[in-house]
Amino acid sequence: MSKERVAYVNGKIVPESRAVVSIRDRGFLQGDAVFDTTRTFGHKIFMLNEHLDRFFDSLKYMRIDPGMSKSEFARVTMEVLEANLPLIGDDDDYWVSQRVTRGVRVGGEELPTVVVECLPLPFDARAKYYRDGIPVIVPSVRRTPPDSQSPRAKVHNYVNLVQAELEARSQNPDAWPILLDTNGNLAEGPGSNIFIVKDGMAVTPREQFVLSGISRRVTIELAHELGIDVREADIDLFDAYTADEVFVTSTSFCICPVSSVNGSPISDGSVPGPVTDRLTKAYSGMVGIDVAAQYLARLEE
Ligand code: PLP
Repeated sequence: MSKERVAYVNGKIVPESRAVVSIRDRGFLQGDAVFDTTRTFGHKIFMLNEHLDRFFDSLKYMRIDPGMSKSEFARVTMEVLEANLPLIGDDDDYWVSQRVTRGVRVGGEELPTVVVECLPLPFDARAKYYRDGIPVIVPSVRRTPPDSQSPRAKVHNYVNLVQAELEARSQNPDAWPILLDTNGNLAEGPGSNIFIVKDGMAVTPREQFVLSGISRRVTIELAHELGIDVREADIDLFDAYTADEVFVTSTSFCICPVSSVNGSPISDGSVPGPVTDRLTKAYSGMVGIDVAAQYLARLEE
């Protein structure tokens, strides 16, 4: 059995070491590309259709024609995943991504580059955040505003978010950045949406200023089902510092508690708070895996 993961590149499934992109590719040269990422839970893919819908919205926004339909992406994604699943243990799971760049100009035509690939989730590195909570730092760099480049599209150009990460990590290597939007309200981090909880009500930034995270949508739906009041609104740093609970949502984390914002502890700093805990348990019930336990088990190994 091959020990190397495979990836799909432009019509062929090849070992990752042979999955290459041209140095003339617009995705490499200009970050001119679109992607989406879901994950597996217990080796089963999560909400592939919802991720592909968002992927196609991002492609439409960027005016890139991938030359493949959603159902073709679904078929290729399952083929790549199934080829890679034997390479991970029962307790591991994959991130599963589709990527399309504007590609390479051949003659007068730009031919898109299409990639589908899997990467094991970083359970070991992130397990401590479920025990201790995430220390969030709000960097000086602001999230790109919708009138410059819509944060609702999931594009390869992450430099704005990378700058935020560099600034946060230079203060605390374990910290995660959450950027403000250009109005001074909390927006999002690289790969995560944010919620605060105050007096039992969960609030998350409005969709115009952030990516519509699939985990954010799931969390809002679960809150409705649990009878937890949830709304989208502007949240500023005062709201964050005085919140009873803060948590982030993302494909990899699902729901993960935040322990502090800019060094200021959320409530007494212990995690998870009761609303975060209820939502995390409901999330776990929905995906059929205890999402916090899957991370926490790595601390005991
Ligand atoms: N915000 C940004 C900028 C992201 O890149 C992501 C995901 O990668 C998210 C939020 C969370 O989205 P999802 O829950 O679909 O992973």
